[in-house]
Amino acid sequence: MLPDVTTLRDPLIRPVGRKTSDVLESVFGLRTVGDLLRHYPRRYYTRGELTSLAALRENDHITVLARVAQARLVPMRPPHWRPPKDKPYRSNDRAEVIVTDGMATLTLTFFAKAHFHVKQLQPGTLGLFAGTVSTYRGRRQLVHPEYELLPEAASDERITAELAAEYATELIPVYPATAKLSSWQISRAIQVILDTLDAGEDPLPEDVRQKYRLWPRETAIRAIHRPQDREDLDQARKRLKWDEAFSMQTALAQRRLAAAAMPAVPRPPEPDGIAAAFDAGLPFTLTDGQRHVGEVIARDLSCAYPMNRLLQGEVGSGKTVVAVRAMLQVVDAGGQAALLAPTEVLAQQHYRSITQLLGPLARGGQLDGAEGATRVALLTGSTGVAARRSALSDVFTGDAGILIGTHALLENRVQFADLGLVVIDEQHRFGVEQRDALREKAAGARPHVLVMTATPIPRTVAMTVFGDLEVSTLAELPAGRSPIASHVVPAERPRYLERAWERVREEVAGGRQAYVVCPRIGDEAPGEGDYEAVADDDGGGDEGDDGTAAAPPAARRPPLAVLDVAPALAQGPLSGLRFGVLHGRLNPDEKDRVMSAFAGGDIDVLVATTVIEVGVDVPNATAMVIMDAERFGVSQLHQLRGRVGRGEAPGLCLLVTDTPEASPSRERLDAVAATSDGFRLSRLDLMQRREGDVLGAAQAGRHSSLKMLRLLSDEELIAFAREEASALVETDPRLDAHPALRDAIDDLLGPQRAEFLDKA
Ligand code: ADP
Ligand code: MG
Repeated sequence: MLPDVTTLRDPLIRPVGRKTSDVLESVFGLRTVGDLLRHYPRRYYTRGELTSLAALRENDHITVLARVAQARLVPMRPPHWRPPKDKPYRSNDRAEVIVTDGMATLTLTFFAKAHFHVKQLQPGTLGLFAGTVSTYRGRRQLVHPEYELLPEAASDERITAELAAEYATELIPVYPATAKLSSWQISRAIQVILDTLDAGEDPLPEDVRQKYRLWPRETAIRAIHRPQDREDLDQARKRLKWDEAFSMQTALAQRRLAAAAMPAVPRPPEPDGIAAAFDAGLPFTLTDGQRHVGEVIARDLSCAYPMNRLLQGEVGSGKTVVAVRAMLQVVDAGGQAALLAPTEVLAQQHYRSITQLLGPLARGGQLDGAEGATRVALLTGSTGVAARRSALSDVFTGDAGILIGTHALLENRVQFADLGLVVIDEQHRFGVEQRDALREKAAGARPHVLVMTATPIPRTVAMTVFGDLEVSTLAELPAGRSPIASHVVPAERPRYLERAWERVREEVAGGRQAYVVCPRIGDEAPGEGDYEAVADDDGGGDEGDDGTAAAPPAARRPPLAVLDVAPALAQGPLSGLRFGVLHGRLNPDEKDRVMSAFAGGDIDVLVATTVIEVGVDVPNATAMVIMDAERFGVSQLHQLRGRVGRGEAPGLCLLVTDTPEASPSRERLDAVAATSDGFRLSRLDLMQRREGDVLGAAQAGRHSSLKMLRLLSDEELIAFAREEASALVETDPRLDAHPALRDAIDDLLGPQRAEFLDKA
């Protein structure tokens, strides 16, 4: 009989058995042999180099390479108890084993089978130890760790020949592991597979492999799990990165080809239209950036294929006016434009400011309307029945050239006469589904799409790295605008917090206003989740260095709440000032009333949740104090502070936190305080998490797609892959001559890969 051959698409249960495959699937989402082989080691330990134990953090699940320094039984018995002669031990003795890296130590504690462990772990023994770090009497320890002894001397009788062979090389792979399945159990499962693996045809074309001197795929797969040395590892990594980059780029190239066949209606500028009239009447001069981006967009809109452009610009850089000019160009060309905003408050603000900027140009059909004027319609969840009916009808007939609104725009009954441009403001707040729903509303041809944000989500940054989303940036702020000064206010310095409130009082005394932001509303019904803070696209980077994600932090006090903080300030450090509160549980009328009062200067201090995060524009507000700032993501903080410093007075943002100095959370806050560049902060965000998660998140139930590629450090490789992939798709658009590549793309991105890629 021929020996069994394992292929990449085999289900895992075949080679590794049900128990292991169940854990691999439930914990890591791995289903096939290929999935497991792409579960790459997180790091490699070099034999002889022990893991540094000094930096272990509580609650991290770790795997360390260390040497046993001491192993002893600790009696668990009353102080004066003496063992009977015939039974010198008691079963409830515990084992205390101290392991070391030569400098620091870590205690291992075993309550069960204490004798056995002490016997196994004799001083001098080298092993891998895995568990979750806890602290007992000030010492870090692992309770009941899993361990694996490593052979050093062939004579060691506890080490089987099999084991000795397994750890024969210099580098010991350490896999992302869990309490249910240790790194070395995963390693063993992979070994079983490698013994019978036939990885099949190489998906990367021979000429590309030659040109970039890449290893065959199967060699790389074997080497990444069993490297002989670091050199091996570099070669294997390079090849596997290419696989990911090339598959991605091939799929993207195919999508571009398909998109080129999908026409859009060209909407060229009209020199005597209302766009020109709007420009002539602007109360300010456009910045160079606004003018330049405007030209680029005007050109895009004139093309017969759909624009897909990201307008990235600092908070307050004036993205809205760029969008308005684009919308007017489309209106001039006979089409309509929709502007989607994430919140009611923002939609209303856009409606007010845009109708105001347009003046008579927005009063089409009215006596005082300008010649060729259009109409602007507003549609939100709280638009009244009559207003809604007239908005819907204006949009349907085409009398309204511009429709502004919230999610309400996505409803079925919203029908356009000729939707030519979709603008999505604060894009990071939307899922792609919403963009697609809106795009579907264009009959026939596809509309042009402009998305805007100050803080692109990591996924968006990723797509720009792949080169498939055009980006324009507004780098400068309009003249006369001051930058925002941000500072971290650490709780360990109570004086700083006092000073923060003094600063707020000073601003108010100078006729200015302030925001105080809290992560929670407060006063909730039991069990009600009302965290408005934590955005799903943020706060990454919480993974332990070894093994799995860190356990949740030990119980902490609940985050500060608007409904607690407001009265505390009003009776304490900010007494005498006029307060208002704003949060998601207020009904739209109340929200509107509070916002109007704040905008009108009748409120000094607005205590709010993140409802104020996006777009709210009150130029007289100059200070913001963010409580429990570590609870917010990087992008969110950046968005929040964009609410101050929108006028001529300099803005001030204070990030209050009780996270310890030099902790990752504090470092994140320090980075936010140190830079005002949203794109840099997004890259920081991206760097703190694994790119695979970034692109993989959109695939429900599928494990991540990019494991090896590091978007930011591999930009060059990604660009080469793009070049090669485009060339290949040009000659073989459906990959008929490259079936192995087609399979590789399916394995990487899933069968709905086109839609998936489209979700950038
Ligand atoms: P963001 O880019 O954050 O969306 P906005 O579009 O809301 O910023 O613009 C912020 C403010 O700056 C608005 O009040 C807008 O009218 C104003 N503004 C935009 N462009 C200019 C400019 N070129 N000169 C002066 N003010 C401008
Ligand atoms: Mg804006």
